[in-house]
Amino acid sequence: MSKTGSCLCGAVKYRVKSEISEVGACHCGMCRKWTGGVNLAFQVAANDMEITGGDHITYYPSSDWAERGFCQKCGSSLFYRVTAEGPQKGEYHVGMGTLEDTAGVTLTSEIFTDEKPDGYGFAGDLPGMTGAEVFAMYAPDIEQK
Ligand SMILES: [Zn+2]
Ligand SMILES: [Zn+2]
Repeated sequence: MSKTGSCLCGAVKYRVKSEISEVGACHCGMCRKWTGGVNLAFQVAANDMEITGGDHITYYPSSDWAERGFCQKCGSSLFYRVTAEGPQKGEYHVGMGTLEDTAGVTLTSEIFTDEKPDGYGFAGDLPGMTGAEVFAMYAPDIEQK
């Protein structure tokens, strides 16, 4: 079952060809600024993503290894996309809030737990990783900033 989503104004729409069942929360300071809250995102391989209205997307290169796409008309944060060379290049991490239908999509993990503000938290005991653990797993060569 494919899922569809869009920005707030509808200028950008997308359809995901793969199954979406899990989202992860990222508590890092960059995601917090970018989304204005917690970034809840699901992963989509480059080939499974179909975007219409893509010319309304502006890409902000937020680090040496990823960029963040937002709608230039309404400002909605859309997705984080890996730009670093390697098997994950082009992979999307799409904001759950952009989905039309969130049925069947469950929060299953948290990352950058060490940067989460103390004033809130998710219920349940989810598996989590600190920022240092994330860098060690995905980018051992990248110096953490
Ligand atoms: Zn828009
Ligand atoms: Zn983040």
